[in-house]
Amino acid sequence: MRVVVYPGTFDPVTLGHEDILKRAAQLFDQVLVGVAVAHHKQTRFTLDQRMAMVTTAMADVPRVRVLPFDGLIMDFCLKHSASAVIRGVRNLTDYDFEAQMAAMNRKLAPTIDTVILLPQPDLQCISSTLVREISKLGGDVSGMVSPAIAQALKGCVMALTITDECINCDVCEPECPNEAIYMGAEIYEIDPNKCTECVGHFDEPQCVALCPVACIPVHPNFIETRLQLLDKYERLTGKKAD
Ligand code: SF4
Ligand code: SF4
Repeated sequence: MRVVVYPGTFDPVTLGHEDILKRAAQLFDQVLVGVAVAHHKQTRFTLDQRMAMVTTAMADVPRVRVLPFDGLIMDFCLKHSASAVIRGVRNLTDYDFEAQMAAMNRKLAPTIDTVILLPQPDLQCISSTLVREISKLGGDVSGMVSPAIAQALKGCVMALTITDECINCDVCEPECPNEAIYMGAEIYEIDPNKCTECVGHFDEPQCVALCPVACIPVHPNFIETRLQLLDKYERLTGKKAD
């Protein structure tokens, strides 16, 4: 069986990624999507959210498995008996980088080939970075990601509002590193221009995790339950949540 690995951060997965993945699935018997843990950079989405988004996007494509990966991609390939690694290349800048990576990876694991695929021309301008920036500014990303992912992006922005259930306990405001939370007319509010959706010590936006009364709506993609969040709050602050 010919197994190929397609590694990336997928923060979030785009239509360009999906195009590469679908064509890789036609060339190989099994495609393993390696979603990077990405310790080295702050991602917009948690590892579980990024994996869930790739799984959703590829739900109709057979022989695709989504796995987390940490460390060297060649070790991941060897561990899963992959014969090749897929890289998507959009332009010459990408190609220069990928050519260097391919040469280095060949030194590390001579039996594993690098297969370079180009996305369709109309998808070559898309990157996860652009999708994140455009969605953050309220722009339309429907031509860049699948409908489910566009909804997830929208939901994350919507998650960072404070409802009138707020009891003004003042837990979230001092913890916000960007001074994005302030006292509005009667309850606390979040300034979307300052909020970076930081995750702090948590796996989701810091204020969402700390709020003891769930008045900052929790996005359905969040993996922890409210009880788990309350447990974290008590552990980290030493205070009892009501
Ligand atoms: S997510 Fe972070 S930056 Fe945004 S309002 Fe909450 S604590 Fe502040
Ligand atoms: S932590 Fe929740 S209840 Fe407390 S001030 Fe912030 S939004 Fe309101």
